[in-house]
Amino acid sequence: MHLKKLGLTGKIVIGMLAGIIFGLILNSLIAGDTESWLKFVIVDGILRVVGEFFITSLMMLVVPLVFVSLVIGTCSMSDPSKLGRIGGKAVVLYIATTGIAISIALTIASLVKPGSGASMAGQEVNFEAQQAPSFVDVLIGMVPRNPINAMAEGNMLQIIVFALLFGIAMALIGKPGERLKTFFEDVNEVIMKLVMILMHVAPYGVFALLARTFADLGLGDLLGDLAVYFVTVLAILLIHGFIVYPIILSSLTRLNPLIFIKKMFSNQIFAFSISSSNAAIPVTLRTTTKRLGVDNKIASFTVPLGATINMDGTAIMQGVATVFIAQLYGIDLSMQQYLMVILTATLASIGTAGVPGVGLIMLAMVFQQVGLPVEAIGLIIGVDRLLDMTRTAVNITGDAMVSTIIGKSEQQLDEDVFNDPSAGLNPAQNNQQSDTSSTST
Ligand code: ASP
Repeated sequence: MHLKKLGLTGKIVIGMLAGIIFGLILNSLIAGDTESWLKFVIVDGILRVVGEFFITSLMMLVVPLVFVSLVIGTCSMSDPSKLGRIGGKAVVLYIATTGIAISIALTIASLVKPGSGASMAGQEVNFEAQQAPSFVDVLIGMVPRNPINAMAEGNMLQIIVFALLFGIAMALIGKPGERLKTFFEDVNEVIMKLVMILMHVAPYGVFALLARTFADLGLGDLLGDLAVYFVTVLAILLIHGFIVYPIILSSLTRLNPLIFIKKMFSNQIFAFSISSSNAAIPVTLRTTTKRLGVDNKIASFTVPLGATINMDGTAIMQGVATVFIAQLYGIDLSMQQYLMVILTATLASIGTAGVPGVGLIMLAMVFQQVGLPVEAIGLIIGVDRLLDMTRTAVNITGDAMVSTIIGKSEQQLDEDVFNDPSAGLNPAQNNQQSDTSSTST
């Protein structure tokens, strides 16, 4: 097929597949030789530079985009008291979907028994638990002492709180607020344009990131005793992303879930290759507003919030890991411990940002609560990279789904955009559809 005719999604898919294949070829050529010139020049040279450029350029946009779009979203609300309702819906849906995810994971893992036949005797276990923030600390820390510092550190919850307050104040002061809003809208368009430009180099970025990951990783670790654990987590992630989400979406909104799945695909590849819901925010926000038709008023709030507090994919890994390690150590988990896992995994996800590998830090918190040995996490690290990538794709799908549900329930979803297969694909559409209060339900 002529490359020009291929849509952006098609190019990103090719970037992904080519990256994985190239990475695996490199891995077999390097064959563990750390002195190899291939590793030096290609993997840690060219691929690293291209991949890091891509991922840092995306991260560069996260803080300004979240702040600016959320301020516009908040100050455009005709009635700021709606904010409380939207926030309430978002938190309830995020917590409920995480609860569903981990319950499914615990149920399937108890049936599959991934750890019962495995023996990890003689395996070196080294994992040092890091301190995960407590729920109370997260609550207290939501208001930034210094908003500039919050932005410098990328503290998403603090940035959200500051942007909400700033937007509300802008709405309350009338004329000066309106002037400022026009300015913020222009800045928002510029940042969205940058996102679009980055999307065009995404096939190369995705290629480099995946080629490097697979060159370093290989598939060796996926065999052996961890295979059942790996496949169980992967299968539940796929079930959640492709069966549970569509059911929730269509039963709560009557929207066609196939359209949703299709439009999320390139976004999922992004998240998969960068392993971070946070760094994916610009792309998720763009998909949610321009492709799915959710108004910016809703999405600018629910997407960054979801990237921070909603991690269904992570909860799934934690559910299976808990059952796996318990079986490995011959520990029988009681019903109460299962409930404890659900509660801690859900709460733990609220306080930790969506960055690579954070799921394991949260897992330490779950293990501590149910009395499993925290060092045992060292046993599953070997296969966590790929699972981290996959669960990040699930995490952002959950964020977009909840945003769509809230958009629909608040009459802030443009169904023409949702149903239009090419919506948001044309760069010219960048300036349309944003911030419109278009509501056809
Ligand atoms: N990497 C995941 C995310 O950013 C979090 C995790 O499970 O480690 O969503």
